[in-house]
Amino acid sequence: MIAVTQLPTLFVSHGAPTLAIDDGPAHRFLRACGGSLGKPKAILVLSAHFDTPMATITAGTSPETIYDFRGFPDKLYEISYPAPGDPNLAGRISELLTSAGLPVQLDRQRGLDHGAWVPLSLIYPDANIPVMQLSIDSRTGTAYHFHLGELLRPLRDEGVLIVGSGGVTHNLSHALHAPQNEPIVEWANTFREWVAEAVDDDRRDDLANFRDVAPYAARNHPSDEHFLPLLCVMGATEPGESRRRIHASDTYGALAMDAYMFGTRQDWRPAPR
Ligand code: ZN
Repeated sequence: MIAVTQLPTLFVSHGAPTLAIDDGPAHRFLRACGGSLGKPKAILVLSAHFDTPMATITAGTSPETIYDFRGFPDKLYEISYPAPGDPNLAGRISELLTSAGLPVQLDRQRGLDHGAWVPLSLIYPDANIPVMQLSIDSRTGTAYHFHLGELLRPLRDEGVLIVGSGGVTHNLSHALHAPQNEPIVEWANTFREWVAEAVDDDRRDDLANFRDVAPYAARNHPSDEHFLPLLCVMGATEPGESRRRIHASDTYGALAMDAYMFGTRQDWRPAPR
């Protein structure tokens, strides 16, 4: 258990669900991550696959593993990620949001979607840290998600690791027709490098306006939901805190698998357990 100091926040691109079982640079990176991150008291995930019109927090004691995808190898449906939930902490998170005037509901039935359990099964394979999810709301746009992150900032002082899970690029119609090892197309690479520079320069306004100012934004994000978790975890850190792209690789010709860390020391490196 790490001493309770202010924890960093993390954004991971989860790519295809087969990330859990197929070897590759992002798979190996995530497996190496847990050793350096230490063991937080709990994990709060904001996933592209939990997108609801009202902020919703999972609050069950034993969230089930949700197989929210179709047509993948049987092996993937045999994985379970039996991390406990933490209803008390879910209540605490709810309080943080409601005291800022944000309506929230607790959901004791919902389990963990693949945006949460696929990366966590690699980072924390023992599944012994309580995990909760907080929904995004892609109908509300980017400013809401920066604000949502801001409201979560106190959790970093309380031993909670905040993880955003989405995709730096997410053009599935291209990715579905490309082999896993096909090099990334120019329009996806250009966008991912724009994101890297905008994060590095802490240009939060540009990231909030990415649809207007980033190259090939609509092509890489036909819809917002895979981009928004990045803004949540960035919002959970103060402007000026450290921020780093800690991993860059790509898959299926169009999916950048980049990961970012906010609010930690600059010399952080992944280290296998
Ligand atoms: Zn996804």
